[in-house]
Amino acid sequence: MQLTKKSLPERLNHIYDAIVVGGGAGGLSAGIYLQRFRLSSLIIDKGKARSFWMQELHNYLGLPPDTPGRVLLQQGKQHYTSLNGDMLNGYVEEVVDEGDRFAVRVKVGRKNSIYPVFRSKYLIAASGIIDNLPPLEDMQNVFDYAGYNLHVCMVCDGYEMTDKQCGFIAGSEASIEEMVFNLSWFTPYITVFTHGLFAVSDSMRSQLHNHGYRLVETPIKKFLGENHQMTGVELVDGSIIPLETGLISMGSRYHNTYLQGFNLDVKGSNLITDKMGRTSHPRIFAIGDLKVGLNQVVVAAGDGALAATQIWRDIRRESGSRRWEE
Ligand code: FAD
Ligand code: FAD
Repeated sequence: MQLTKKSLPERLNHIYDAIVVGGGAGGLSAGIYLQRFRLSSLIIDKGKARSFWMQELHNYLGLPPDTPGRVLLQQGKQHYTSLNGDMLNGYVEEVVDEGDRFAVRVKVGRKNSIYPVFRSKYLIAASGIIDNLPPLEDMQNVFDYAGYNLHVCMVCDGYEMTDKQCGFIAGSEASIEEMVFNLSWFTPYITVFTHGLFAVSDSMRSQLHNHGYRLVETPIKKFLGENHQMTGVELVDGSIIPLETGLISMGSRYHNTYLQGFNLDVKGSNLITDKMGRTSHPRIFAIGDLKVGLNQVVVAAGDGALAATQIWRDIRRESGSRRWEE
């Protein structure tokens, strides 16, 4: 059930089999499998998932390619709660390992916040990441287009950019190096924007020049367009550059602060797991964008199935098989 400030106290003495941090694509999938394994689970979600921001899920088998992420989440939540899974809107602040269980401290409510502590045997970290966006004076102007034709994920939306005039908004020279030449698989009509945030080396300048890609170092004042369709940018010097699409590549923030005390193995900022999603801590699993792998809904959903299945195996083995009792 959906827990509220009022109803949650009755769960404070319960030890869940698993608490899932994050109710995006990965967390909801894990929750559905956990409940179907007849385990008890709680999903804690602060909302605004990457999957929520996704306006169209283009590449998920079985769903029409214009399915909004919020529809997937709605459906997933309904499915999970119909299996009697517990769901709580809140922000996980801290997790403490108490030996054979975790104590999970949550901030609930923006106003008059309360800080309940829930307990579980296993933890699934499904809290994802969030993309950095170009810092403009009016951030609403960025939100008007980001996730529509101003994309953040080349694997998801490269196809949408095919042979279009594309603005590539980079966060560093490394992101140009890593992404621009791959982006050219979809479109060669690339203008690279640094937004005046970093210097570009001479060798990168000449590489871009040799490929015919333009480089704009003057900061962006605002994106132009209407109805969430970006048609270009205006720079701070007043000049206008027409575009048909864009790709933002400025890195991401990882939602992992509650794991800080654990010293888990990482590659860059991504958690390293085995093929079932187990991290270097035997009772902590990580799924979706937070772990090493491809940041895709279908992968996050698959990860959820694997992690839940492994947790079931662990718990089932420990408790042994049931007897037929009269
Ligand atoms: P998320 O879906 O981001 O869910 C994580 C949840 O955890 C969030 O609700 C977050 O608020 C919550 N959380 C974080 N920290 C805490 C905390 N401390 N306490 C409680 N809750 C917390 N993928 C595709 O496959 N196809 C596409 O077409 C596609 N298009 C995309 C378009 C856009 C604009 C974006 C941004 C992404 C797109 N993606 C696409 C990628 C896809 O959205 C992600 O790969 C997927 O959502 C990852 O799922 P997740 O469960 O790991 O994380
Ligand atoms: P398949 O879906 O089996 O596709 C393989 C295809 O390759 C078949 O069409 C086959 O004919 C074809 N093929 C084989 N050899 C050749 C050849 N030499 N040349 C050309 N074609 C070939 N999974 C769930 O997640 N949830 C469920 O609730 C669930 N319920 C299930 C219920 C039943 C009755 C069954 C049988 C399975 C269920 N599964 C469920 C499992 C799920 O169906 C499989 O995991 C999934 O279909 C595997 O996908 P696949 O693409 O590997 O194989």
